[in-house]
Parts: sequence; C-alpha cells; structure tokens
Amino acid sequence: MYLESLKLINFRNYNQLQLKFHPKLNVFVGNNAQGKTNILEAIYLTSTGKSFRTNKDRELIKFDKEQAYIKVEGKKRYTDTVVELKLEENKKKQIKVNGVTLSKNTDILNNVYVVVFSPEDLKLIKEGPSERRKFMDDEISQMKPSYFHYLTQYNRVLLQRNNLLKKIHHHKKYMDTLDIWNEKIIEIGTRIIIERAKFVTRIAPLSRLIHRKITENKENLEVKYISNIQLNNTFEETLESFRSRLKESLEVDLQRGTTTVGPHRDDLGVFVNGIDIRSFGSQGQQRTCALSLKLAEIELIKGETSEYPILLLDDVMSELDINRQKFLIKALRDVQIFITTTEREHLNDLNVDKEYVFYVKNAIVRKEK
Ligand code: ATP
Ligand code: MG
Repeated sequence: MYLESLKLINFRNYNQLQLKFHPKLNVFVGNNAQGKTNILEAIYLTSTGKSFRTNKDRELIKFDKEQAYIKVEGKKRYTDTVVELKLEENKKKQIKVNGVTLSKNTDILNNVYVVVFSPEDLKLIKEGPSERRKFMDDEISQMKPSYFHYLTQYNRVLLQRNNLLKKIHHHKKYMDTLDIWNEKIIEIGTRIIIERAKFVTRIAPLSRLIHRKITENKENLEVKYISNIQLNNTFEETLESFRSRLKESLEVDLQRGTTTVGPHRDDLGVFVNGIDIRSFGSQGQQRTCALSLKLAEIELIKGETSEYPILLLDDVMSELDINRQKFLIKALRDVQIFITTTEREHLNDLNVDKEYVFYVKNAIVRKEK
C-alpha cells in the first residue's frame, strides 16, 4: 500500500500542513529539531493509534492548542483507506476510518501498515528481553488484532495474580482463589506463546535470507524463540506444560510475590554464525541484525495481508554505508519509503525524484527547487 497524502493541524510543531506523496520514495531534509520525525510520527499514529515516542497525547498537540488533527489517504490494491485522528487534551482519541468513527480505538489496526526503522531499534538487539517481546507483540498485533486483546487481558490477569500472591503471603485464606487466576493465565498465556512461536518460525528464514544478502553471504543469522514454557504440538499439550510449570513454581512465586513463569518472561535469541549477538556483536553487526529483522517484517506483513507496509526510516541512512543504502532501496522496490536525514548529500547516490524531496525548516515544508 502507499499513502497519497497527509494533513496535519496543530500536531507537534505544525500549525497546518498538507503534503502529497510519491508512491515510492519521499525524503525529508532539515536540521535538527525542525519537524522531520514529527511527520513520521503522525504517519505511524494512523497505523497503530499510538506514537513511537510517547503515550501522552498532550505532547502530540501543539503547545498552545487544545486539539490536533491528522489525516492520511492511503491506496491499497483493492480499496482506498482514509484514516483520521482527533486528539484532545484529557479525552480519548477520536478515530475515523473511511468517515466512520471507531467505537474501539484498537480497530484502527489493519488499515495502514507501517514498519519503522530508527536508531532506537538498536535497542531491539542491545537491551533487555522486554524490547524483544515488544518487537514480537507490535508486529503480531499489526497482523492479528485479536492478539493485541490477548495481551491486554494477559497483563491484567498477571497483575491480579501477582497481587493475590502478595496477599496470600500474609493471609493464607486467599489461597482458594488462586486457581481461578491460574486457569486464566494458562489459557491466555498459551495463546500468546503459540502466536509468538508461529511468528518467530516465519520471521527466522526471512531474516536469515535478507541478512545473507546484506552481508554478502558472510554472516548466518539465526533467530530463536526462547520461552520458559515448553511448546508442544497442540494447544492442549502446551496448556498442560504451562499448568505444570506454574504448579512447580508456586512456592517461589509465593516467596517472591510475583509470577516467575509465563510469556511475560519470553525472549528472542539472536545469533550470528552461532554467536550470541546481544552480548558479543559489534555495533555494526547489531545494527545489521536489527535491520534484517525489520526488513523481514515487511515481507511477513506482505505475506499476511497481501499489502506491502509503508517503511519509515528515521535518521538511519547516514549510519549505513552506501552499499547498504543501495541494497535497502533496491530490495524495497515495491515499498513506499519515507526517509528523514539532516544532509541531502547522504542520499546523493540514490535516485530520488526531486519533486519528493521536502525541506523542513521550523515546521515549514518546501520542495526542492
Ligand atoms: P532531529 O534531526 O534532531 O531528529 P527533527 O527534525 O526530527 O530533528 P522533530 O522531532 O520532528 O525534529 O521535531 C522536534 C521539534 O518539535 C522541536 O523543536 C520541538 O520543540 C517541537 N515540538 C515537539 N512537540 C511539540 C509540541 N507539542 N508543540 C510544539 N512544538 C513541539
Ligand atoms: Mg528526528
């Protein structure tokens, strides 16, 4: 899919902005703090209803204003999509898809598909397991909105169980109610585990292939799903192994007042030529792994929805050597790409249509002369 246009009112540092996009490559050039990432952030919001930088709507509304508005017009293979968001201080976001207001804001998923790659994504490799769980969760949610509901439920049930564990510590009488929460955790948790395992099984060969191309066959990337619950052939069997793990860990859970087994402790193993890249990779290797995973995600979304997602590349071009830049643009021939950069020169070797190089200066956007 691709976006034809974007409209902003009172979003971040913009008063009013209206842009028409190229179906392939769009570039935003400008100094720091001019409003380049703000544009990508607005696009991302039309995909997930959330920002990749903040979860406070107030920050998205222009400092001296009460409301902000975002609209995109997207073209898909068979249909067009118009997504509009109205943000208001202390109010729930109002989201419209093709003119119809959504009753549940999570229904925004599955309209505009977006993949973002930014320097932040290095965290995906470098930091703790929660970043990698977030990666899995965000991607699966985009393709399967029901997964997002499981997650919300799981987190709620987990919190309840943890609170109960703490209570039991002082009052044994609460022990009777534990079973109810155990069953809920097992049921929803198993669904999450199965979806994550499926996701990793599919992203692993895709990312390996891409990684091989980027590194000219020098590196072999392996991605593995790591869970403390054993994954079995069927839903029931996995459910059973979760049940017995939970039983085994009851004593420890009671001591610590927290649930020590379950998908909230999952991780994703990332290995290059057999070496754990999270601990032993160079910065460049880690970045390339993150890039391969993100590019694999594009293929996965395409496979799942039959639409290519839009790719947002925030500040990453200057960090890639020219071969990798070219690889990226060539590999993504069918994908609409939005690039931000501080220097036009970073992209000199790429074939960018002059019409779609936008210069951003203090929230004013102009085209290249
Ligand atoms: P860099 O190259 O440093 O990444 P950028 O062009 O991507 O810069 P953005 O993050 O898009 O910069 O924009 C940052 C600017 O937006 C800052 O000047 C900031 O003060 C301004 N800004 C952020 N939120 C708001 C808001 N709610 N109201 C008004 N201005 C805002
Ligand atoms: Mg920026």
